Amino acid sequence: MALSPMSACMTKTLHIVGGGMAGSEAAWQAAHMGVNVVIHEMRPKVETFAHRTGNLGEMVCSNSFRSDDDEQNAVGLLHWEMRAANGLIMATADKHRLPAGGALAVDRDPFAESVTQALMDHPNVSVEYGEISELPSDGHWIFATGPLTSTALGAAIQAETGAERLAFFDAIAPIVYSESINMDVAWLQSRYDKGETEEEQKAYLNCPMTKDQYEAFIDALLAADKSEFKEGETAGYFDGCLPIEVMAERGRETLRFGPMKPVGLTNAHKPDDKPYAVVQLRRDNALGTLLNIVGFQTKMKYGAQTEVFKMIPGLEDASFARLGGIHRNTFINSPTLLDDRMRLKSRPNIRFAGQVTGVEGYVESAAMGLLAGRLAAAEILGKPLDTAPLNTAMGALVHHITGGAEAKTFQPMNVNFGLFQPVEGLKGGRRGRKDRYKAYTDRAKVDWQAWLAAQS
Ligand SMILES: Cc1cc2nc3c(=O)[nH]c(=O)nc-3n(C[C@H](O)[C@H](O)[C@H](O)COP(=O)(O)OP(=O)(O)OC[C@H]3O[C@@H](n4cnc5c(N)ncnc54)[C@H](O)[C@@H]3O)c2cc1C
Repeated sequence: MALSPMSACMTKTLHIVGGGMAGSEAAWQAAHMGVNVVIHEMRPKVETFAHRTGNLGEMVCSNSFRSDDDEQNAVGLLHWEMRAANGLIMATADKHRLPAGGALAVDRDPFAESVTQALMDHPNVSVEYGEISELPSDGHWIFATGPLTSTALGAAIQAETGAERLAFFDAIAPIVYSESINMDVAWLQSRYDKGETEEEQKAYLNCPMTKDQYEAFIDALLAADKSEFKEGETAGYFDGCLPIEVMAERGRETLRFGPMKPVGLTNAHKPDDKPYAVVQLRRDNALGTLLNIVGFQTKMKYGAQTEVFKMIPGLEDASFARLGGIHRNTFINSPTLLDDRMRLKSRPNIRFAGQVTGVEGYVESAAMGLLAGRLAAAEILGKPLDTAPLNTAMGALVHHITGGAEAKTFQPMNVNFGLFQPVEGLKGGRRGRKDRYKAYTDRAKVDWQAWLAAQS
């Protein structure tokens, strides 16, 4: 059947919903590949509690893109990859850079104004201001509506995915690099040794506490500095994901009957010692390099978290891939909903990108926009593209959200080296870290350049 002029135009145009970090970068990439792009941005007509302007690419809080070290830091590597891919967000950040040591901080208003101007000036880009409240059944679409996706669109997404696959708050438990845990203290065991296979019977890593250690831990939790919810955020705790400090405030024994209960576990190092409380960690990625502290979502400030969590026996020298938090944050269960090219499995004409996919932060969101923009444009141009290589920062992150992460406990993720496949033959532990990170970043740069070169 011949396409009508209207539907032909719909199939060639890429519609991007949301002109934040992800949507702006997606639009820039697709437009440079020769595809016509329409950005649908609801601001300033419909506002959010965090944005202040109608600009595209507005930074809602801090003005930092974090570390710019592309040899020893995973987010710095992501900067490098985006710069190599002609990224708008990185080029504009470089233009409006402020002194900030090793971090990339920017002058936020000129930054967002420049992002807006660059997109407005691009002959392949147009911007339509207004809210999109449905998931369209045809045309090519990227939804990059961020942590504050409008209510009506949230309802439409839930209608498509099922209510339980779209969250409105995150409840992030701290994530620890498994190599930094003291296994002379901790041991592997599932409660009551449950599970058919040995792997299941040893699915948890347990850190035991004596009564004195438990009491000191509760005192520290109660005394720690905490963040408040920002204005406009409602404290939407569900009883299933209360912050641990709130549980401790409800009674000193509450945690011992909750996430720290010591039952069904035998200390492998001291079988005759009955622990008074046990902290459990569980695998957070298929590689097993990252473990989350089960049930330890928290509103403690970051500095306080590291101090308090290092009181847990076995975690004295822990390195954290990310610390805990609870925020207003709309995100889908990407591991079950998206394919490896970021398409909604139930409606492949729709991609998701940015923070709504369950990545966290300006840089990660822009990165997912860059990738979704290229993947969508390549598809429209009839030259489908493989997703980013696994050993790049971009690839490690997209692989995590679209399959590597545990779907049942999926929570937003920053880019970090725990997501990377190990480089064989290098020393583990703290001592080998510098060489290991350099090997990850060297390998990533080669693979990223090859991926880009294959498209030119
Ligand atoms: C209060 C708060 C503070 C934060 N602080 C930080 C921080 O300090 N550092 C950091 O790295 N990250 C922070 N974040 C996370 C930050 O929002 C993301 O890192 C980043 O902005 C996400 O980029 P994005 O493009 O996915 O979403 P956004 O940048 O939020 O862009 C999404 C866009 O979609 C638009 N939109 C939403 N729904 C619709 C609709 N139905 N139709 C049309 N347009 C729509 C929105 O108006 C918005 O412009 C914070 C988030 C919040 C909520």
